[in-house]
Amino acid sequence: MAFLGIAVRRVANCHLSLSPLCSSATRSRCYSTSPSPEHTTEKSVPYKNVLKVEEGGSGPTKPLPKSAGAVVIGGGSLGCQTVYHLAKMGMTNVVLLERDRLTAGTTWHTAGLLWQLRPSDVEVELLAHTRQVVSHDLEQETGLETGWIQNGGLFIASNKQRLDEYKRLMSLGKVYGIESHVLSPAETKDLYPLMNVDDLYGTLYVPKDGTMDPAGTCTTLSRAAAARGATVIENCPVTGIQVSTDDLGVKRVKAVETAHGIIQTPVVVNCAGVWATKLGKMAGVKVPLVAMHHAYVVTERIEGIQNMPNVRDHDASVYLRLQGDALSVGGYEPNPVFWDKVSDAFAFSLFDLDWDVFIQHIEGAINRVPALEQTGIKSTVCGPESFTADHKPLMGEAPEVRGFFLGCGFNSAGMMLGGGCGRELAHWIIHGRPEKDMYGYDIRRFHQSLTDNSRWIRERSHESYAKNYSVVFPFDEPLASRNMRTDPFHKVLTEQGCFFQERHGWERPGWFSQDGPVPVLDYDWYGAYDISRNQNYKYNKLLGEEYTFDYPPHHHLIKNECLTCRHGVTVFNMSYFGKFYLTGPDAKKAADWLFSADVRKVPGSTVYTCMLNQRGGSEADLTVSRLEAGASNLPLTPESNGDAYYLAIGGGVAEHNWNHIRTVLQDESFNCQLTDHSEDMGMISIQGPKSREVLQEILETDLSNGAFPFSTHKVCSAAGHKVRAMRLSFVGELGWELHIPKDSCLPVYRAVMAAGAKHGIINAGYRAIDSLSIEKGYRHWHADLRPDDTPLEAGLAFTCKLKSTVPFLGRASLEKQKADGLHRRIVCFTIEEKVPMFGLEAIYRNGIPVGHLRRSDYGFYIDKQIGYGYIRNPDGGVVSTDFIKSGKFTLERMGVVYEAKAHLKSPFDPSNNRVKGIYPNEQHNFCQASV
Ligand SMILES: Cc1cc2nc3c(=O)[nH]c(=O)nc-3n(C[C@H](O)[C@H](O)[C@H](O)COP(=O)(O)OP(=O)(O)OC[C@H]3O[C@@H](n4cnc5c(N)ncnc54)[C@H](O)[C@@H]3O)c2cc1C
Repeated sequence: MAFLGIAVRRVANCHLSLSPLCSSATRSRCYSTSPSPEHTTEKSVPYKNVLKVEEGGSGPTKPLPKSAGAVVIGGGSLGCQTVYHLAKMGMTNVVLLERDRLTAGTTWHTAGLLWQLRPSDVEVELLAHTRQVVSHDLEQETGLETGWIQNGGLFIASNKQRLDEYKRLMSLGKVYGIESHVLSPAETKDLYPLMNVDDLYGTLYVPKDGTMDPAGTCTTLSRAAAARGATVIENCPVTGIQVSTDDLGVKRVKAVETAHGIIQTPVVVNCAGVWATKLGKMAGVKVPLVAMHHAYVVTERIEGIQNMPNVRDHDASVYLRLQGDALSVGGYEPNPVFWDKVSDAFAFSLFDLDWDVFIQHIEGAINRVPALEQTGIKSTVCGPESFTADHKPLMGEAPEVRGFFLGCGFNSAGMMLGGGCGRELAHWIIHGRPEKDMYGYDIRRFHQSLTDNSRWIRERSHESYAKNYSVVFPFDEPLASRNMRTDPFHKVLTEQGCFFQERHGWERPGWFSQDGPVPVLDYDWYGAYDISRNQNYKYNKLLGEEYTFDYPPHHHLIKNECLTCRHGVTVFNMSYFGKFYLTGPDAKKAADWLFSADVRKVPGSTVYTCMLNQRGGSEADLTVSRLEAGASNLPLTPESNGDAYYLAIGGGVAEHNWNHIRTVLQDESFNCQLTDHSEDMGMISIQGPKSREVLQEILETDLSNGAFPFSTHKVCSAAGHKVRAMRLSFVGELGWELHIPKDSCLPVYRAVMAAGAKHGIINAGYRAIDSLSIEKGYRHWHADLRPDDTPLEAGLAFTCKLKSTVPFLGRASLEKQKADGLHRRIVCFTIEEKVPMFGLEAIYRNGIPVGHLRRSDYGFYIDKQIGYGYIRNPDGGVVSTDFIKSGKFTLERMGVVYEAKAHLKSPFDPSNNRVKGIYPNEQHNFCQASV
């Protein structure tokens, strides 16, 4: 037997290196519990009841039906949860196929920890549902215990920022009724006497967290599903997926093949864990995940550990899970081992633990619970798990094949997320969309050019794994696989000090440093695997300075960008925007149906609109420009008979929009084309009271209000180059967007900067756009406008053509909501104190929690912190303007409550004068704010 303390010393004497590009099998080991091959079976596992002991014959455990409404592939946490929820929602003609026995993949050896608090409202709701299923629903339905243990959870903070993060979670928890307490070191010692609290800053204790049992959970799920008519078949590997192409050229799932027969089905759900990529390939679907080793060790008995809560020591990157009278110790290391050759023969199997990699967790664990130094190791549990580019699962209908759904890539959280995600997946399959806002998990959050790029998948998954326990700061950016998509301005803006943000693979301007270029370098794997770290890496240094819950150190630079826009003129590079044309015989019909706003305007008009789902939820917001009739001159103009539309869409969500439109066109059999010209054109937006003076020098068209009113567009010459100019604003100012063919981008930009020099023009980035747009009250999709918010709730009723008789997707739901009254709605808040908020802060009305902020930022013109959040009436009634006006509102940030003022209209330029070019005189003499 090895003691944990001895293990640390033995491995410390041995230094090995591993390239991230070589597989674990090539590694030598200086410490191993056994000299066995790469994977072995049943290696001293801590579970007495893995499902394998019920082993039967080698064939399928049940005959295969000829057809099914849906076939779920994989009998782990996700497959079992999905089939259970499908059956529970009434889809009983559903089959689960597991190639071995239930739980044989990753699930059987999971640690099973469930923490309720995460820095995301949707995740908190998903986790709550899993907890409800395993702690209550399944037992009620089946009479069987799932093995759920409610021993509580304890998050450790070793510094102020970590505790600040926990306090943020605590405030959010209050909105959801999740009990949590911030404890001092002394209080923590009282709760957990074996803990070393000398280096503690504080802890967050969540009494109703707990531990799930994988075998118990999956057995009860499959029994409950079977009781409702679902069929669970084990020992039946899927060997192929048949896809057919319909008359419109759309690929659809047709059948699932196995060695024991074929099941005809329109829906396949890929819940195959680390094998999901292989299953995807069978249907021509890209599944961007990597398999890695992930491990914990189980200790011998520890006197006094019984009934202790599970512990997450984020700063040491370790967790301590209570296991009877012992602990399981696991964590996230900066140099995880990739499993490159995912084997089909791997069932109820484990890898040898690589102690060189794992040892760092032992040191952290001994520091936290010193009794571990003299405690023996009973077993090691090192299994495969799938990881993704942003440490979030892959869910939803695959863009390549209709009816092929993903439920994989769970990043070592597939037990705790399983219930919530299983339910959303079931809803997605049955109703065509999930109930919650699942965009953060939707496969369509990634651009299709990335999802089969192995460098991007591997580097980003590594970074996300290594940073899993890092504090989630509001302005973080990845360092891995940057510069994947760059626009024509990238080089010139880099030279001017642009600090780039990564969105959808694109590099977009975040803000501008006054201190020279800040290039993003190739990924250095944080120095793991003996790869040299990037030296004097300025971008990384500036990024590190952003790691704060206070105002960042360059707040004043963003202020200058904002105030220059409000008083003078700025140029924003927004080239990463999605730029699509909708053309063809049914384009007009399709536009009527797709867009909530009335786009039946004269050619030359531009309309801000939403696209809705059946429930009236906002799938997107975008601008739609009706194009003039004429011959094709791409990329600026497609051929048009007057029924062609140009769609400009925020670049971070372009893939989602693309797929939404395509799906609707397919579902409605509209005869039209959607074409993507995002990479063929750049786009700069020139905004501010002086924008007209600047642009009039280079645009060969009259920019007066009469000749070029707000919400119109024209193709015209700019410095001798053809561009499409649009009079629009994302920041609430007079301004124009220039959509420019790629080759003309730089000459036009240079002409704008030259003309703007005498007016003090500067570049500005998206941090300024965030601030300016919240000040003006413009919504950001997926922040203050999501698929679970209707435009009426979001204060965007003006984007809905309800006064017309034109039918559109989501109309019936909006009409019903309008008749019933709004039971939740967005409200703008300002606070007088200068305290930064970032979203997730609790909103109270008369002392009762009624919601939380979705987005918050500083408004530099009004000089106040601003926040937007949805509020409910705690009595379940309508949220009327009187309800808002009569309430006394407060916002809770990290446990501290601040008085807040609720606004029914934007506190900045509520009359919309500025976008019309109407300015009070004072601004015209503005000089740049000093920095
Ligand atoms: C060491 C470790 C600790 C963990 N701790 C936690 C934790 O504390 N909390 C938490 O929430 N999560 C934890 N996880 C993660 C969690 O266990 C996983 O995310 C979850 O079990 C994944 O479930 P799954 O259903 O996606 O995949 P799997 O359990 O791998 O299921 C996939 C199934 O698909 C089957 N399959 C594959 N190919 C085919 C085919 N061709 N035909 C039919 N079937 C096929 C496989 O046999 C397998 O049973 C941990 C993981 C590890 C490795």
